[in-house]
Amino acid sequence: MSSRRELFLEEIGLTPLWRLKGRATGERGAEEQRAEEPFAVRVGAVEPTADDRGERIAHMDWPELNMAVAGCTACGLRKTCTRTVFGVGDERAEWLLVGEAPGAEEDARGEPFVGQAGKLLDAMLAGIALKRGENVYIANVLKCRPPGNRNPEQAEVAQCSPFLRRQVELIRPKLILALGRFACQTLLDTDASIASLRGRLHRYQGVPLIVSYHPAYLLRSLPDKAKAWEDLCFARSAMADLRTRA
Ligand code: URA
Repeated sequence: MSSRRELFLEEIGLTPLWRLKGRATGERGAEEQRAEEPFAVRVGAVEPTADDRGERIAHMDWPELNMAVAGCTACGLRKTCTRTVFGVGDERAEWLLVGEAPGAEEDARGEPFVGQAGKLLDAMLAGIALKRGENVYIANVLKCRPPGNRNPEQAEVAQCSPFLRRQVELIRPKLILALGRFACQTLLDTDASIASLRGRLHRYQGVPLIVSYHPAYLLRSLPDKAKAWEDLCFARSAMADLRTRA
């Protein structure tokens, strides 16, 4: 098995790998050797460091990444969620939308933004002639639902971030739209407010990023819908600019 494959299996929790013990010389008799054959030694018993894990994820392709997310137990959330929510859409999309974490409906269905907030998001996308799955990819910072929709914890974000980072590398979107305070602050590594981050181009891993309000927040705060619309219009014109520069 290639070492890449081994690393991948380790990532998804199908390790330790077991192998027949190697024999250094032919000194021992065949009978003794046969007697040893059922025994195995543990390979790679050393715990991977956080850097190793990030490094492995950084080299995964789509199927590997998908399986790694599905099998991830790096934080406690997998124990309480129903299923992981990997992300959905066009893997070569120009647009990447990033939310916070799955809610109850997403947890039940395995797709991001399928509840009430998702319906509003679809309507917002339609407003700028975009459609889920068509030149659009939707993902969350966290792939597992926090119990009771509580705020994600720092350690959970740290464990889950390499997955989103790899999704961004694989998609190579032209523009990221970060939705809500949590996604914006995580991707931009800041504690600044959305209000102070709106209306300009930021970058995440070199990819232009625009911030806006979370659709779930907009459902409760009608006045900010107008600002979200401004953000979408800004994003649409930024995309037009980015296309002419490509
Ligand atoms: N809120 C999010 O941030 N993401 C979802 O997928 C659903 C609700």
